[in-house]
Amino acid sequence: MSAPPLIDTHCHLDFEAFDNDRAEVMQRAYANDISDIIIPGTERIHWDRIKDLCSADTGEQPPGQPRLHPCYGLHPYWVCEKNRPDIEALIDYIDINRPIAVGECGLDFRPRQADKKTQLYFFETQLGIAADARLPVVIHSVRATETVIQLIKKNNSLRGMIHSYSGSLEQARQLIDLNFYISLGGSVSYDNASKIRRVAKEIPLTSLLLETDAPDQPDKINQQKRNEPAYLLNTLDVISGLRKQPAETIALQTTSNARALFDIP
Ligand SMILES: [Zn+2]
Repeated sequence: MSAPPLIDTHCHLDFEAFDNDRAEVMQRAYANDISDIIIPGTERIHWDRIKDLCSADTGEQPPGQPRLHPCYGLHPYWVCEKNRPDIEALIDYIDINRPIAVGECGLDFRPRQADKKTQLYFFETQLGIAADARLPVVIHSVRATETVIQLIKKNNSLRGMIHSYSGSLEQARQLIDLNFYISLGGSVSYDNASKIRRVAKEIPLTSLLLETDAPDQPDKINQQKRNEPAYLLNTLDVISGLRKQPAETIALQTTSNARALFDIP
């Protein structure tokens, strides 16, 4: 009997790191029961590439059903003042090419990132775009979870996911109360990731999503390697061990969570 399918809810399959063997990477994913992959948008120049990638790949059963799902957004790594017109472009792009979510957008308060004011402008505007378009939002939050929570609270029609969650358990509970899912990837596999491992153990399964964030953030077994969607099974096993629940149960529920949030049939 094959395992219940998984959805990789955050994978940058459009990145150059996959240019030489993208088809093989996808084949390995499908062969390992990854039924669907969600591709977040990071920069305006990537949107067409993501759109083409998603429309070119369709499932075999039932025929024509997409397995790759696009999001369009502006990632905090690449926001800058001169790119403000990208916001208008994003509104139009989403209107014409209805994605499954807005993002990846967010805040990254580590050193050497764009200044806070610029990041906040792009993030708050994209939250508004998601709310107006009635689409979920994919959020990148590093050392910024408190601010993210405050901004989400301003708009109670928002829903979405916090990708590669790195906040506290208490903050995760607040986000869940605000209709957000907590998405976890390879970082839970590291012994020193006690904060995230606690989150993986304690949050309700109905609020959990699985992701690879490939090509980044490989799990412990694949440390130093380029990450890819097929490795999602390792994260599933780690979370199954932490929660003391069968992998099948976690696969079934997280896949159903992803389908519900992103309206994937
Ligand atoms: Zn990402």
